[in-house]
Amino acid sequence: MKAGLASFGDKVVSAGANWYECHMNDSLRARTTASNTRSSAELIELDKRHLWHPFTQMRQWNQGTPLVIERAEGNYLIDVEGRRYLDGVSSLWTNVHGHNRRELNDAITAQLGRVAHSTLLGLTNVPAVELAARLAEIAPGGLQRVFYSDSGSTAVEIALKQAFQYWRHRGRRDKCKFIHLADSYHGDTLGAVAVGGVELFHEIFRPLLIDTLAVPTPHLYRHPSARSPEEARDQALAALEETLRAHAHEVAGLIIEPLVQGAGGMLMQPDGYLSGVAALCREHEVLLIADEVATGFGRTGTMFACEQEGVVPDLMCVAKGITGGYLPLAATLATDDIYDAFLGAADEYKTFYHGHTYTGNPVACAAALASLDLFEADQVLAGLPAKSAQLARCLADAVADHEHVGDIRQRGLMTGVELVADRQTAQPFPPGRTMGARVCERARERGVIVRPLGDVVILMPPLSITADEIDSLVAALAHGLAATSDA
Ligand code: PLP
Repeated sequence: MKAGLASFGDKVVSAGANWYECHMNDSLRARTTASNTRSSAELIELDKRHLWHPFTQMRQWNQGTPLVIERAEGNYLIDVEGRRYLDGVSSLWTNVHGHNRRELNDAITAQLGRVAHSTLLGLTNVPAVELAARLAEIAPGGLQRVFYSDSGSTAVEIALKQAFQYWRHRGRRDKCKFIHLADSYHGDTLGAVAVGGVELFHEIFRPLLIDTLAVPTPHLYRHPSARSPEEARDQALAALEETLRAHAHEVAGLIIEPLVQGAGGMLMQPDGYLSGVAALCREHEVLLIADEVATGFGRTGTMFACEQEGVVPDLMCVAKGITGGYLPLAATLATDDIYDAFLGAADEYKTFYHGHTYTGNPVACAAALASLDLFEADQVLAGLPAKSAQLARCLADAVADHEHVGDIRQRGLMTGVELVADRQTAQPFPPGRTMGARVCERARERGVIVRPLGDVVILMPPLSITADEIDSLVAALAHGLAATSDA
C-alpha cells in the first residue's frame, strides 16, 4: 500500500493481511503483486486507451478520473490508493454476503483443485448436479428443471426460446409473440431487448427485434392516471386482459420482473398485481416467465419475489446474486410440463438446441452452492426485515424532505430515490442536468458508491450490510443531495 494513502475520511484501511493474501501460493502472489505495480494514473491511462465500458459515453469517461478497484473486504470496495468505499449497489446488484468471504473463497479454491471447467454437452459435473437439485428445492414449487447459462440476458433468451418451442411441440405454431411491461428491462441480447421497454436503451435496436406487445406498468408515480395503488393495479390488469383477449392465440409468453421493475427505475408493483397477472396468463394459456435476475436471492425480502404472492411461474430466470456475486452464472428454471414437451425420439427433433460453452461451469456452481449455504448459516432472510425497516426509517429521516426528492420506493433492500425539479408537480430535471449522476458523484466523498438510473438514485446494498453501514449509506446520499448545487 502506498504511504500516506491508507486512510480515507474516517475509514482506515486495515493493514493486516486478509484471508486471500495468507492463502496465496507463491506464483499467484507473484502475479498478484505484479498486477499492482502500476500506479493509479498508469492504470487509468491504459483503461482509457483500451477499454470500452458498458452503458458508458466514452467521451465523457475519457475526461474523468475513474476509481480503480483493486480489492474488497466485506461490504467495502478498495481502490488502488487504498481508499474504501461502501458498495451501495452490490457491484451491479450481484453481491449478497459481502466481498472476500472466506467461505466463498474456500469453495471456489477447493473446486479449482478439482476441475475448473468441464462441458455439460455429453457429460455432467458434480457441482452442476448438486446446485440444480438445491435450486429445485428452494424455487417456487413446480420449477424442477434447471438450464444453466452465464448472464441474466442469456437466462432470458433461453426462457423466450423455450416458451416459443414449447408451443411448437404442443402444435400451437401461431404462438410466437411475447408480452412485456412498459419500462421493463430484461437484458441486452436481442431477444431480451425485444421484451424491453426502456426507450433510451432499446429504441435504436427496434428494426432488429422480434414482434412483442407492451402493456402498461402499474407504477403510480410516473403514470398518475390512477389515484391509488389499487386503482393502478386494476387499470393495469384490465389493460393486460384486453391485450390477452385480442392476442393470446398468438402469444407464447408474458415476461415480468416480479414485484419490482429494477432498471426501469425501481418501479414497485401494487399488492395483487403479480398474482393477477399470473391468473390472467393461466386463463388465456400464455406462459408466465418470471425474470428474477434482479429480485432473486433475497433482494425483495424473500428468496424469490414470486413467493410473496404465491406465484409459481412456468419459467423463471435467475442470475446476478446466484453465486453471491462472485462469478458469472445464470439459470432458467422450468416446470416439468415445459420440460416434458421437449422429450421425444431423436428424429422427432424436439431437442432444445441451445447451449453456451461455459454452461454449468463447476467453479461458478460451487460458488453458488456455498452462497446458498451462507444464506442458511447467516440466517440472511431472517435478518432482512429489520434491515429494510431501518433503511426506510433512515431515508424518511434524512432524505425524504429534501426539496428535490420526489418519490422514495423500496421493497426489501431494493430502493430507488427519484429526484425531480419540482416535487409538487413531479416535474423531472432536464436530462442534460444529469442530477442523479452528480448526486452519486458527491456521495462518493463520504466513501459510498451508489449509481443512478437517470435521476433515480439506486440503493441496493449487499444483504450483509450492517446497521452502521445502512446509516452511512443514507448519510452519504443526504450529503450528495446537500452538496449538489441546484439539488
Ligand atoms: N433481467 C433483469 C431484471 C435485470 O435487472 C438484468 C440486469 O440488470 C438482466 C435481466 C440482464 O442481466 P445481465 O446483465 O447479467 O445480462
